[in-house]
Amino acid sequence: MSALKLKSFGAISRDLPKRDHTMPVLFMGHGSPMNGIEDNEFTQGWERIAQEIPVPTAVLCISAHWLTRGTHVTAMNNPKTIHDFGGFPQALFDVQYPAPGHPELARETANLIQSTNVGLDHDWGLDHGSWSVVKRMYPEANIPVLQLSIDYNQPASYHYELAKELAALRKKGVLILGSGNMVHNLRMIDWSNMNTPDYGFDWAHIISEKFKKHILSKSHKSLIDYTSLGPEAKLAIPTPDHFYPLIYSLGLQNDKEEVEIFNDKYVAGSLTMTSLKIGG
Ligand code: ZN
Repeated sequence: MSALKLKSFGAISRDLPKRDHTMPVLFMGHGSPMNGIEDNEFTQGWERIAQEIPVPTAVLCISAHWLTRGTHVTAMNNPKTIHDFGGFPQALFDVQYPAPGHPELARETANLIQSTNVGLDHDWGLDHGSWSVVKRMYPEANIPVLQLSIDYNQPASYHYELAKELAALRKKGVLILGSGNMVHNLRMIDWSNMNTPDYGFDWAHIISEKFKKHILSKSHKSLIDYTSLGPEAKLAIPTPDHFYPLIYSLGLQNDKEEVEIFNDKYVAGSLTMTSLKIGG
C-alpha cells in the first residue's frame, strides 16, 4: 500500500512543478456572504495576501460550509459555484467563479491521507466559504480550486492530525486555505451594529485575545481543547463548523513557522474576521 501511495504521490511532481519554497498556509475569516461582492477592508486584506504570497499551482480549501460523514475531496473538472445561503441580494446569487478543478490532484490528495479513506466527490463544487474568498484573491479564476470536506463526526484533535497528512502539498505549490471564523455566533449577532466598525461584545474580545495568544505562542493543544477555554469559548463556538478550518490551518504549521495576523476585527458583536498567514 505504501509503495502504491508513494508511486501515486510521484504523479504530483509531474503535474505540479516542485518548488524550492514551501507555500504558506492561510486561515481566512470569511464572515458574511456579502464579502463575496463587497469591496471592504476584509476583501482588501484577502487581495493583499494574494499579492504577497507566491502564485499557487492550486488551492485546497477547507470550508466551514462542507460538513460530511467521512472525508471527501472534490474531484470534478469544473466545480460549480454553490450559492449556499438565503435572503441575500440577487447580485450574490448571480456570482459565478469558474475556476477549474484538478482531478489528478484530488486523487493525489486522497492518497496522501493514510489515516482514513478519502472519497472522491463529483457532486459538491465551491461553496461560498471558498469562492467568496478565493475569487477575491484570484479573480481570473485560472488557478484550480479543490475542497476537502470536514468529517463532522470527528473532534478537533482528529482534524489537527489529518491536516498534518496534507503537508507535502505545500512543497508542490498548493495553497491550503482554511475558511471559517474563530468567533462565530450567528444567534447573538447584533444587527443594529452590523455596520459599526470593529464592534465586538466583551466576551468576544476576551476569547479572541485568548485565541490569538495561543496561536502566537503555538499552544495548539489549548485550541484543540477549546471547550476548556472558559464560558466565552462556548459563546464563540456554539458549534465547531467555523472553528475546525482554523484547526486544519494550525495543524499544517511547522515548528519554525511564524504567524501573521490580519483582518483582526469584530463584526456585529459576535463575529471576528481574524485571519492568519502561516509561514511563507
Ligand atoms: Zn460561514
